[in-house]
Amino acid sequence: MSDEGNRIKNQLLGMSHGTASNRLRKMLLWQFVKETSRDFCFRCDKQIARIDDLSIEHKEPWQSAADPKASFFDLSNIAFSHLRCNTVHNGSSRKTQCPQGHPYTEENTYRSSKGDRRCRQCNTNKKRQSQSRGEKADTQG
Ligand SMILES: [Zn+2]
Ligand SMILES: [Zn+2]
Repeated sequence: MSDEGNRIKNQLLGMSHGTASNRLRKMLLWQFVKETSRDFCFRCDKQIARIDDLSIEHKEPWQSAADPKASFFDLSNIAFSHLRCNTVHNGSSRKTQCPQGHPYTEENTYRSSKGDRRCRQCNTNKKRQSQSRGEKADTQG
């Protein structure tokens, strides 16, 4: 009987087999997140220090997407964040501007290879500064 099999598994694990499987998946995910240096919060940009803080969220709300199902499974729409940052959408924890005061709008932000949010304006300014300092045109276009 499979019921009996499950009962034994649950007993061995001290929890339901389903709960244990979910925990194992999360531990695997946590390991990969850390190994690939993606353990930074999508919302507050701080490091996610503990596995209990890790949450998976959709950058753009999939419910309101043109194709909700596609959006839900779109890996490029997935970000990691602190559980509290994900659940507390009160606006105060989410930064709306960069340290230089440029707005974090859709147009003014981009993602680094690490997946953290960067300010376009600051990036442009930085490039401009280094160019004017060197006083030679960048021919790479
Ligand atoms: Zn956070
Ligand atoms: Zn900026």
